[in-house]
Amino acid sequence: MSDCIFCKIAAGEIPSVKVYEDELILAFKDIEPQAPVHVVIIPKEHAAASLNEINDENIGVISHIFSKIPAIASKLGLEKGYRVVCNCGEDAGQTVRHIHFHILGGNTLGKMA
Ligand code: 5GP
Ligand code: ZN
Repeated sequence: MSDCIFCKIAAGEIPSVKVYEDELILAFKDIEPQAPVHVVIIPKEHAAASLNEINDENIGVISHIFSKIPAIASKLGLEKGYRVVCNCGEDAGQTVRHIHFHILGGNTLGKMA
């Protein structure tokens, strides 16, 4: 997706502060943090625009993201806990249509909504 900002970050065309990377996924610091620690995890490929496009074919990379979250959270020093958020669609305030998961932590988080 040539006009997708997260595809550009995955390709290194837009710089990011990386906290984890492997052949399938990338985790980087959010440019507008909503908590002391705020990291975004993406599949490197534009596997889906949102959670609504997850299916049997692309679930593998999403599963891979979740399998790495504990290690990423540990690397970020989030032993006291953290929140994982996936905004899906307009009402949730999704702004980038390349599926991604937020890891938020670093202090006591408020109620969810
Ligand atoms: P959404 O609102 O779609 O769930 O999350 C998109 C997130 O991407 C936002 O928290 C926003 O701050 C972050 N973001 C948007 N553009 C950039 C960018 O160029 N670099 C980084 N590091 N984060 C970005
Ligand atoms: Zn993309």
